[in-house]
Amino acid sequence: MKILAFATTLLAGVLVLAVPAAADKQGTVLVTGANRGLGLEFVKQLQAQGYEVIGTARKPGEAAALKDSGARVEQLDVASASSVEALAATLKGVPIDILINNAGMANRTDSSLASLDFGAMERTFQVNSLGPLRVTQALLPNLLAGEKKTIVNITSRLGSIELSTGGLYSYRTSKTALNQINKIVSVELAEQGFTSIVIHPGWVKTDMGGAEAALEIPESISGMLNVINSLTVDSTGKFFNFNGEEIPW
Ligand code: NDP
Repeated sequence: MKILAFATTLLAGVLVLAVPAAADKQGTVLVTGANRGLGLEFVKQLQAQGYEVIGTARKPGEAAALKDSGARVEQLDVASASSVEALAATLKGVPIDILINNAGMANRTDSSLASLDFGAMERTFQVNSLGPLRVTQALLPNLLAGEKKTIVNITSRLGSIELSTGGLYSYRTSKTALNQINKIVSVELAEQGFTSIVIHPGWVKTDMGGAEAALEIPESISGMLNVINSLTVDSTGKFFNFNGEEIPW
């Protein structure tokens, strides 16, 4: 009888040890623009680390790789107020620990005063600057209900004024605005225990970064996840590189 009890205990122990890390409850992360590029890899690596992931796509019907990942998939166009409101209504009452505002676009046609296109500039601001702010505002109740209370805005080194070498009026200024938006949010939500940062993924081989880029997608994402997993409230308001170094404003 004693041998049987011992064997049962041993088996239970083995079973507990055999449960993969993915079953550890790390919390829930929402990633915008998760159907390709950096967003899709965020979803995959977060799941491998044991997070529950909600990935958004403008066209979920075409987001085959995101669906195959097993993440919960929701529709979201960050430039559309009604789309953001609909997402917030769908997710009402769902706690979110980490929001990753990853969706973004790059307009490359305006590197001189002669080539400015104010329509394209407004569009870039809608997506890269106002989009993350809109999503943060709409999902604030979800973040307040989560434990980690973390907001990660994917910015770019090109948004740094100190490091600017000119060119790309729309893209650079949209990310500079996002950096300031992050700072303001970080100050407003500090008392509620939030950590809100901007992070540069490096120059990465995605559709946006192009084939000549320096980094492979998995390297950028694992670097950013190392940073995200080590954030504390003292990190709030900061501008990080994917390797954890700080970038000047
Ligand atoms: P990709 O172009 O590969 O992917 C962009 C993603 O954003 C897609 O999922 C796209 O969806 C989505 N998106 C675009 N517009 C909207 C919108 N209005 N609403 C919702 N989703 C939208 O880019 P990356 O993966 O390279 O970029 C991800 C983030 O990293 C961006 O914020 C970018 O600015 C930033 N970044 C990238 C760098 C790089 O070298 N790759 C360098 C510095 C910053 P859809 O498929 O529907 O178009």
